[in-house]
Amino acid sequence: MNSSVSPETVRTTCAYCGVGCGVLATREESGAIGIKGDPMHPANFGRLCSKGSALGETVDLEGRLLEPRIGGKPASWDTALDLVASSFAETISEHGPDSVAFYVSGQLLTEDYYVANKLMKGFIGSANIDTNSRLCMSSSVAGHRRAFGSDTVPGTYEDLELADLILLTGSNLAWCHPVLYQRIAAAKAKRPAMRVVLIDPRRTMTSDIADMHLAIKSDGDAALFIGLLGYIAAQAMVDRTYVDRYTSGFEQALAIASSHDLRSISARTGISPEQLREFFNLFTQTERVVTVYSQGVNQSAGGTDKVNAIINCHLATGRIGRPGMGPFSVTGQPNAMGGREVGGLANMLAAHMHIEDEGHRDLVQTFWNSPTIASRPGLKAVDLFNAVRTGKIKALWIMATNPVDSMPEADLVVKALQECPFVVVSDINSVNDTTIHAHVLLPAAGWGEKDGTVTNSERRISRQRPFLPLPGKARPDWWIITQVARRLGFAEAFPYETPAQIFAEHAALSGHGNRGSRDFDISAHSAISDVEYDDLSPFQWPQGRGEAALERRFFSQGEFYTPDQRARFIPVNPVNEEAADPRFAFTLNTGRVRDHWHTMTRTGKSARLSAHFAEPFAEINPLDAAVHGIADASLVKLGNDHGTIIVRALLTDRQARGRIFVPMHWNGQFAGDARVDKLVSANVDPISGQPALKMARVAMKPFEAA
Ligand code: SF4
Repeated sequence: MNSSVSPETVRTTCAYCGVGCGVLATREESGAIGIKGDPMHPANFGRLCSKGSALGETVDLEGRLLEPRIGGKPASWDTALDLVASSFAETISEHGPDSVAFYVSGQLLTEDYYVANKLMKGFIGSANIDTNSRLCMSSSVAGHRRAFGSDTVPGTYEDLELADLILLTGSNLAWCHPVLYQRIAAAKAKRPAMRVVLIDPRRTMTSDIADMHLAIKSDGDAALFIGLLGYIAAQAMVDRTYVDRYTSGFEQALAIASSHDLRSISARTGISPEQLREFFNLFTQTERVVTVYSQGVNQSAGGTDKVNAIINCHLATGRIGRPGMGPFSVTGQPNAMGGREVGGLANMLAAHMHIEDEGHRDLVQTFWNSPTIASRPGLKAVDLFNAVRTGKIKALWIMATNPVDSMPEADLVVKALQECPFVVVSDINSVNDTTIHAHVLLPAAGWGEKDGTVTNSERRISRQRPFLPLPGKARPDWWIITQVARRLGFAEAFPYETPAQIFAEHAALSGHGNRGSRDFDISAHSAISDVEYDDLSPFQWPQGRGEAALERRFFSQGEFYTPDQRARFIPVNPVNEEAADPRFAFTLNTGRVRDHWHTMTRTGKSARLSAHFAEPFAEINPLDAAVHGIADASLVKLGNDHGTIIVRALLTDRQARGRIFVPMHWNGQFAGDARVDKLVSANVDPISGQPALKMARVAMKPFEAA
């Protein structure tokens, strides 16, 4: 596939969600940027959603950071880079490698991620590099590794079109992954027998294609799938051949499942026994089933267990790795998956290798020819910012993310940044709630200027290509990190002049990935030239040397990456509900709206996108509103021990009683004090470290102006 379709039009990839749609970007004579879906891209075949279509409206230079700044004042690149390198070097020399940290982002391209991870783990010698993808999909990573021995998404988008039954759990696909929703809706229109079940506390817009809506309690998902496993066994629907040949641990998982009857599952999920039976029968009687899950599953104190409860049901029925079947985790960010490939999480090494494994460490250190290698996992996002707040981390570099608005207990993150002796932020914006705390601000390239690769939710690697010049003194993230690495004395190991060189090195290392697992191997591209890189067509991993790319993983013959090559059933207990507190009667759920992305630093620029919802709001059931004297469109105050926010009431029976939904996007820049994440406790899943952003207890009352 050619990189450009005409001199003015460039093939690239959308900057937003993990669907990873192909985009044709055209510089028009007027100076405007024309955006169309790429009909050749296998993720979207020409489709785009509202956010993707508006990409051209978000690339103006208003608010852009166009030069390095030190203490708020413009500085040259040399001065700023020298200061970053010398401050990190002094901190490391005085307090050790674990006194510094990088907090990176699923917005970074794979090449940026690779270089940042290499510098921190192989040359600084700490694993204190974590990512905002920790907040998005780390429970899926942990669940995959427990079950499969590797972080592999078994299926493809095509499986969603081939399935006869799709379970959407913890996923408002219609708004959060709209092109995947469109693909399912189109497939269902062609095959009316296809069934869709929505499992969500709210009747979201995704219910428009659902044949059944299970209005589950927050955190009821694990219980639901535990109940399903018990039902599968009770109905003699276990695929014994598959379970006996290719899995281990079934009896232990079943023992827990069998200890819960329909009534106890009903109490834990809030779903009636009749509806549970109807749903369980639908699952057991349909061969081609895909279970799609996203943040509603991952962002939980029991997120990893929820993931394994889902996978257990697919293993028990042998419905995995075949057309139209399998558990399918959808990532939130454009390059959450790419970050996983290069080890951009505190508990991973490069190429999906394991920090805890001495053999893996030796392999990576030898490949990098590095003086050191991190020997234990670093701090995950919540712990990392706690360590900044308590003074353990003294120099922090934040890249392409806005943690003040996205982390739980956000006010504590502000405190951490205020107290940290040295904060560097690389960003495209000059002012947001995080950049205002930076001692050094570094101007990064934005979408349309960046050059590299991203990997979407179905393991498909696509190019992001530039079609705009770098504005002012902005530079790509990989270049900035490389310059600092050279100043730290590692010039030989960071010789990169183009992103293609970094991709080739990453591809070569992937050929050694996970020792025995070929899943992450893209070594077919380890000698890629700049020209070939420019023309690189979207492809799915794995693709080893001289091999064709593979689409579906874990065919019916098993091939898992555990020591005995069997998939593991994980015994899972239901997630316990947060203890009720009479002061805080409502369960708060957070999430996205259709037309905004994360903290709105880009989508907030588009009047068209902002017209969908002009301000932050709380979805409240009308009966709850009546009890509390709250009128539609009036202002309400939501609060708990962490703080309060004031938002507009939106009364709707799509919301169940006792529950409130508030979108996560609005922040200090756009809506004063309406950062909903400051109300969420920093509870994390004990295995993945992912914060439970989907659940907080709050009180609600009408807002009365003083
Ligand atoms: Fe972009 Fe996601 Fe919309 Fe596709 S579905 S256009 S990747 S935001």
